[in-house]
Amino acid sequence: MAEHESLEFGKADFVLLDNVSLEEFMANLKLRFEKGRIYTYIGEVVVSVNPYRAMNIYGRDTIEQYKGRELYERPPHLFAIADAAYKAMKRRNKDTCIVISGESGAGKTEASKYIMQYIAAITNPGQRAEVERVKNMLLKSNCVLEAFGNAKTNRNDNSSRFGKYMDINFDFKGDPIGGHINNYLLEKSRVIFQQEGERSFHSFYQVCVCVCVSVYVCVTRQTDATISWYTDQMGRGSVTSSIDDGADFKAVADAMKVIGFTADELQTVYKVLATILHLGNLTFGVDGDTTLIENSKVVAVIGDLLATKEENVEKALLYRTVATGRDVIDKQHTAQEASYGRDALAKAMYERMFCWIVGRINDVIEVKNYDAKVHGKNTVIGVLDIYGFEIFQNNSFEQFCINYCNEKLQQLFIQLVLRQEQEEYQREGIPWKHIDFFNNQIIVDLVELQHKGIFSVLDEACMNVGKVTDKVFLQGLNSKLVNHAHYTSRKLSPTDKSLEFDRDFRVRHYAGNVVYSVVGFIDKNKDTLFQDFKRLLYNSSNPVLKVMWPEGKLRITEVTKRPLTAATLFKNSMIALVENLACKEPYYVRCIKPNDVKSPLLFEHERCRHQVEYLGLLENVRVRRAGFANRQEYPRFLQRYKMISEFTWPNHDLPSEKEAVKKLLQGCGFEQDVAYGKTKVFIRTPRTLFCLEEQRTEMV
Ligand code: ADP
Ligand code: MG
Repeated sequence: MAEHESLEFGKADFVLLDNVSLEEFMANLKLRFEKGRIYTYIGEVVVSVNPYRAMNIYGRDTIEQYKGRELYERPPHLFAIADAAYKAMKRRNKDTCIVISGESGAGKTEASKYIMQYIAAITNPGQRAEVERVKNMLLKSNCVLEAFGNAKTNRNDNSSRFGKYMDINFDFKGDPIGGHINNYLLEKSRVIFQQEGERSFHSFYQVCVCVCVSVYVCVTRQTDATISWYTDQMGRGSVTSSIDDGADFKAVADAMKVIGFTADELQTVYKVLATILHLGNLTFGVDGDTTLIENSKVVAVIGDLLATKEENVEKALLYRTVATGRDVIDKQHTAQEASYGRDALAKAMYERMFCWIVGRINDVIEVKNYDAKVHGKNTVIGVLDIYGFEIFQNNSFEQFCINYCNEKLQQLFIQLVLRQEQEEYQREGIPWKHIDFFNNQIIVDLVELQHKGIFSVLDEACMNVGKVTDKVFLQGLNSKLVNHAHYTSRKLSPTDKSLEFDRDFRVRHYAGNVVYSVVGFIDKNKDTLFQDFKRLLYNSSNPVLKVMWPEGKLRITEVTKRPLTAATLFKNSMIALVENLACKEPYYVRCIKPNDVKSPLLFEHERCRHQVEYLGLLENVRVRRAGFANRQEYPRFLQRYKMISEFTWPNHDLPSEKEAVKKLLQGCGFEQDVAYGKTKVFIRTPRTLFCLEEQRTEMV
């Protein structure tokens, strides 16, 4: 029960619902949203509904209210979770993490920023310069990552198109001394194509509106990259009202300078962006047997931008060097292959630059000069802000990866929430009966299992020589997964008209059914970038560019290993992420998007209900209630409720606080509903807590 919350705002913790039913859950969620209470707990999980309006609840005064407090002492808030994670880390020397989930536009990234701001605000009371520097870098990094990793989509004007996990390291005093960012699966296909109403990454528009840069990069080179097919498909590049690209350009450039990007590095970033824009204008034609570039002026500009000869660029675009036995020959692309290569180059250059930027930020924020022998272990709070479950009209490889990621996180949630509960009961010496609910391990296996999983079948299909098509991949799936309860296709369910022959397969995810079209799976998984481009970029006389492309060093005859596929890379990164999270004490923020029109007033019941279901929130409440709804350390409990019992007010004369709490609860007639652990009292039903709170309110 949170303080200062009357029932007119609904129940501050879903555990306090009279009945755990979807109807009651939804009614409470809606009531609270309409009363401007966007946060509600399920025990220690925060459920958040995007308010789509500025809320006056993140200021200095609010921060002060939450600092050092326990969850139930204040109304539900992100700050309370951030504080809980911080306290656990500081008091118990535990690594903790905050996992933020929810669909696109639900408010994950905003939540992660508020959490970081809170942590920055409550630490470093001594104002140590080095700690201030680190905090500043951590906060500044957001602005840079958003410029390069976010884009306007139809769901969110500032949608993160990559997954982000950030560790913040703390010293023995509890002050931030460094951090590390991991990024996951940037949606690089956006570089070359966007849906109607969407934009490419913000960085492209920023560089285009900033006159000084576009003058430098484009105009002096006679061709105008500010109009590029890649970013202006059907005039979509137009600036939207919620975004000020010019102002953002300056903010990002400033942030990059503060972080320590050199002038040369910054110029290289602009040149890479300009190169990609120019690539978008490059077209190929044929003359007899020869493939040629139709607008060769663009090639000269690209050569200039990449600090390499024009003819090198032209050759890399039109030919492919292949080793046949001992010989090395130049094989000419068809116009189609050349276009494919151009797009692959644009996507790869952007992705590589993005990873390089993250790496440069990591260089700067990494923990330095910390001697664990002297100062004790340095502890960590991790913040995960990663794409939520996606079901679109047309779902492809990207959605498949994203949804797999969510299966992994759900699996972790199941394990950790249950494990955490069980461990606590054990620690406190309280008997616990196991409760069951849907375990999605079977779906995780369907995707990632060696030899049998969908990723394995995909990799196998990609290794085939000769007939490598998406259809072959689908056939592989159909033969391997005939009897799988969570997989089907038209071949396996011939009567199911919603599935197209030779194109679709359907996975029953924990969050619902998703139909994937196999079109493009093979290409996206192989993710081929011709070696010629890697050599081209490595051989640039721009040292910054060279650093981004180390593998271009290899000669054609030295390239033997097949690069890992996109699916394998993603799978490995997810397994590593989950392992990393699993050894930390987790805190969860579950974000809900109330409507599709960014309205602060509208609570679309059906839409919200679906999210509540697939986030497994109701099950979460049940697990929480099957055990004990609430637990509090004895001293805290006593401090809060001692006024309601003659035995404890104003002071008690019992041998311990535990005994005092026992006496108090016996006196109130709650003996049947509580259990006494070693350090905490456990309260089974919310009603008891409720009565305690009521009695307390009457007394004070
Ligand atoms: P996600 O990362 O889940 O895709 P964002 O965090 O980018 O979503 O939120 C999308 C938009 O919703 C933000 O740009 C902002 O306009 C609004 N929003 C989200 N959270 C809040 C909040 N706590 N207060 C006010 N507006 C918010
Ligand atoms: Mg986001």
